[in-house]
Amino acid sequence: MRVAMIGTGYVGLVSGACLADFGHSVVCIDKDQDKIARLKAGEIPIFEPGLEELVQANVKGGRLSFSTDPAEVVGDCDAVFIAVGTPTREEDGHADLSYVHAVAREIAPLLSGFTVVINKSTVPVGTGDEVEGLIRETNPEADFAVVSNPEFLREGAAIDDFKRPDRVVIGVEDDRARQVMADLYRPLDVTATPIVMVGRRTSELIKYAANGFLAMKIAFINEVADLCEKVGADVQQVAYGIGLDKRIGPKFLMAGPGYGGSCFLKDTLALTRTAQEAGAPISLIEATVESNANRKKSMAGRVSAMTGDLTGKTVALLGLTFKPNTDDMRDAPSLDMAPALIAMGARVQAFDPEGMEEAARLLDGVDFRDGPYDAVQGADAVVILTEWDQFRALDLDRVKMLMNRPLMIDLRNVYRPEDVRARGFTYASIGRS
Ligand code: NAD
Repeated sequence: MRVAMIGTGYVGLVSGACLADFGHSVVCIDKDQDKIARLKAGEIPIFEPGLEELVQANVKGGRLSFSTDPAEVVGDCDAVFIAVGTPTREEDGHADLSYVHAVAREIAPLLSGFTVVINKSTVPVGTGDEVEGLIRETNPEADFAVVSNPEFLREGAAIDDFKRPDRVVIGVEDDRARQVMADLYRPLDVTATPIVMVGRRTSELIKYAANGFLAMKIAFINEVADLCEKVGADVQQVAYGIGLDKRIGPKFLMAGPGYGGSCFLKDTLALTRTAQEAGAPISLIEATVESNANRKKSMAGRVSAMTGDLTGKTVALLGLTFKPNTDDMRDAPSLDMAPALIAMGARVQAFDPEGMEEAARLLDGVDFRDGPYDAVQGADAVVILTEWDQFRALDLDRVKMLMNRPLMIDLRNVYRPEDVRARGFTYASIGRS
């Protein structure tokens, strides 16, 4: 099948490379000329485990290529994916659909023969109708159907998530499009992947409801962690104890500094706006949004509560990305933490294995270091902000020797309190005493 992927970001590039690996003929398109030039030169613009090899193999196999010009590609395609960003709209917190709308207008005059336009971007209910209207308005003769196919991949495990998903959700109203979608995802038959075929509006809502629920689970365990600290309970044991209940499940029950990333913040906000506009507000998600925002703001206070007045003190931050195995800095807790520490008078030294290039663009006044041991040099406190593997077994004796004062604030509960304290550290973590 001939496929165009419009938008070659985290989702577009991974989805395009995986679909090519399934045997489809895929062209990934982006308006970012630099990004496409790098991809054509064999360079991968994002960090995602396994992606470089996957892209290289499929380019070599002639199934994957790159372009900046939809006009060169779209007319020959059976399926055109829209995988552009849907960030938060500053004015009202809703999803900014301007990129999605622009793609609809761009591709409309290029469609030739029956074409399925597939919305992979996360979009509010009714966006499929809008895309259909825009294409129809621009090119009344076009023979096409608009489908919703939200993406659930997680950065850091994106290839596996795409190739072995828990399910594929497809919102489709047209029989020919249903067949095209079935053919597109036929390679997942071998793993008996459930294909959830529903109406377009239902599919759009499934994505937001999924992210809203997951965000709520994290906010819940974070508040339980606060309670644990007050009453002398252990949040990891509470999470284990409740997670064994199959109705609850063990995932997304890791207490921490508050969720970040490219999706949860914007999607929970957009869901609250959709629900309010529809006259069916979801107060649980509204509370989740507020709880998480307050939590992220409060984290720097946890550091100063341990160090005392931060003026002139040095804090080492280990981890800047919103989670490990990605270079994505979008809405990462470090973006709240570092400026707040600096505002309190601290010097901030930081290290992240993959995120420093992007972090340098977003964070002023941070001293970026070459590795974890370089970052803790002369520090009065070390804060573990992202649970990268390389921070899980630090040489604590060396860390202690390098620091000005052995104080660790472990916001990801990477270490066992008794182990760190036995090495002579003052140690604080989340929801454990
Ligand atoms: P991204 O910002 O990494 O990539 C979007 C790309 O689209 C950019 O490269 C941009 O240049 C390009 N683009 C914008 N307008 C264009 C146009 N008119 N023509 C061609 N290219 C254009 O975004 P992302 O993280 O890949 O997210 C894309 C969508 O997928 C969002 O709606 C997001 O919510 C959703 N999503 C993201 C993830 C994730 O983990 N990142 C997971 C599931 C769903």
